[in-house]
This record gives sequence, C-alpha cells and structure tokens, in this order.
Amino acid sequence: MSEQESKVTDSFAQRVLAWFDQYGRKHLPWQQDITPYKVWVSEIMLQQTQVTTVIPYFERFMTSFPSVYALANASQDDVLHHWTGLGYYARARNLHKAAKALVDEHGGEFPNDIDAVVALPGIGRSTAGAILSLSRNERHPILDGNVKRVLARYYAIAGWPGQKAVENALWEVAEKNTPLERCGNYTQVMMDLGAMVCTRSKPKCDMCPLQSDCIAYAQGAQADYPGKKPKKALPVKSTFMMVAQFNQQVYLEQRPPTGLWGGLYGFIEVASVEEGISTLHGKGIEVADIQMLESFRHTFSHFHLDITPVVAVVNSTPTKQVAEIASKWFMLNEPIEVGLAAPTTKIIKQLV
Ligand code: SF4
Repeated sequence: MSEQESKVTDSFAQRVLAWFDQYGRKHLPWQQDITPYKVWVSEIMLQQTQVTTVIPYFERFMTSFPSVYALANASQDDVLHHWTGLGYYARARNLHKAAKALVDEHGGEFPNDIDAVVALPGIGRSTAGAILSLSRNERHPILDGNVKRVLARYYAIAGWPGQKAVENALWEVAEKNTPLERCGNYTQVMMDLGAMVCTRSKPKCDMCPLQSDCIAYAQGAQADYPGKKPKKALPVKSTFMMVAQFNQQVYLEQRPPTGLWGGLYGFIEVASVEEGISTLHGKGIEVADIQMLESFRHTFSHFHLDITPVVAVVNSTPTKQVAEIASKWFMLNEPIEVGLAAPTTKIIKQLV
C-alpha cells in the first residue's frame, strides 16, 4: 500500500469513528452486555427487517432462549413461533440448526476462526465478520447491503454487487478500510452510516463524514451506485416474413384474434424460405423470384424477434382464394386501412 493510500485509509476509518462517537447507535438491546450470541441473533433478524421491528422480537427471543444452549434445546416449533411475523422462516430454521451445531461441535461457544463461523448454517462471510468484530472487537470486514451502498458510492464502484467482480472490488475496499483498533465500533458505524445517512434514496450527504472525498457525491451520481441488478437477458427467436409482391401490391393476412399481433394484418411468418414458398404455393401464389431483405430485430417485453423479410416476386395474381383466412392484396402506394404491426409497416416502407 502506498503512503498516499494509507493516509486515505486512516482518514476514512478515523472520520467514520469520530462520527460514531457523536451519532452512532449505542443503545440497541443487542449492544448491551454484548455477546456473540446476541449479535448473531440480531444480525439474522436484521437481514430482512428494520431495527424498530426487530427490537421487540429480539427481546422476546432472548427472554425465551437466553443462550445458545437454550436455543439448541428448544423445539423447532417453538423457535418458529417466536419468529412469526418476521418472515423468511429459513432464517429461524438455520438459527436453530446452527445453535445445535455450536453445542455439538464447539461447546456452545462461537469459534474464533471466521471460517468455522461461516461454516455454520445461515451465516455468510459478512455476518460472521459482524459477529466476531462487534462482540469480540476482532478485525474482520463486513459487507452487508448498507455497507455495499456506502462503499460503492464513496469509491464509485460501478456494477451490480451480485456480480462476483463487483463484490470482490467491494470486499477489497472493505478490507482495506477496516482499522486495526476499534473494529467493533467501525463495523457498527458502517452499518449505521448505510442505514441512517447513505440511504437508498435521498442520502443525507450533508451529514456524512465521507462527503469531502466521496466520488458519487462529487459527481452528483449517488443514485447510480450501487448498480442495479441487470434485467434478465431476453430470449431471441427468429422468423422469416414472406412478402408476396405482385407489381405494386403485397399480400397480407389477418392474424388470429388472440396471440401475438392478434387481429392485425401481416405477412406470412415461416421458419424457412422453403416453407414460405410452399405455403404461398398452397394459397395459389406462385413465386417467380426471391429477394432477401436485411434482417432486423423487434423487441417484445418477453423476447426479441429477429425478422428476415423475404420478398417473393410473383408474376400473376393468385389462382385461388383461401376462404377461411381474411387476406388481401394491398396497393403499396395507397394508405393501408387495416391494423398493421410495427414490423409490417417497417417492411412496407422499404418497398415503397
Ligand atoms: S457523501 Fe453521500 S453518497 Fe457519499 S457516502 Fe456519504 S451519504 Fe453516501
């Protein structure tokens, strides 16, 4: 680490710790007579739930299960009963399982080795770090949702933290900034800053000890960090549209009333040019020549459709009418007064 970096690192931790001394939360029930067990239960309850909601649940839980042993010896029904209303019941089941593992494998104590803590059911790296740093002042970084937001904004780390590379970059700065002393307070203040100051919307940057060199603040780009989860990639389908053309007329059929482009007029859709020629033949339309137009993409909410228009030149009007399908030859140089889907209009414009 360069001297410059180490100064920045020191000042980051010093500034947030000074803020903690003045504004940090110090009176939460799990901060009194602190133990790894209390921190653990609170951290699990807080994973999906606000502090104010958690407090009464935490207090009832501690009254009924005051120790790891009490929790391990309780019935699962009783544990779940104490969780009723908090939701995400897998958290309670894992808490119960982990209590049994702590009793069976670790004499009812939390191990000092962070990997052994992470190996317990329902405890990830960040929760393990929070338990050991908050209760024992050990030096472990944390990276819960609140801390991710603060660090992503402060360093302008782009991208969705669910992506491994982004998460790794955040862990790296989380590790780098964790001080050698006052680790428990540092963990607490990082969570407090995320929950109280660097909030998801409308962060209170004017109250923030990191404002002077926060990159997102300087850019006015707080809302860009952390990056949002990318939208799921849409599947891609492809189709050929047979544009039967006779002089200045094109052949359109009305689509079935329901489904894609229901009730609109459009070109015949097929999976291959050969299928298109034979389909047209079945309608009495004999193809004399083929001309492929450039493919283009039309995007629906749930998929992309790559469309290749195929102009099928015909030399004579059709010899028969397909009775059950509403169809018509339309003049290209006259307004077409039926409903047309956007891709149909787009293809017609290329022909005029
Ligand atoms: S200055 Fe604003 S955006 Fe930057 S860390 Fe502080 S609260 Fe978050």
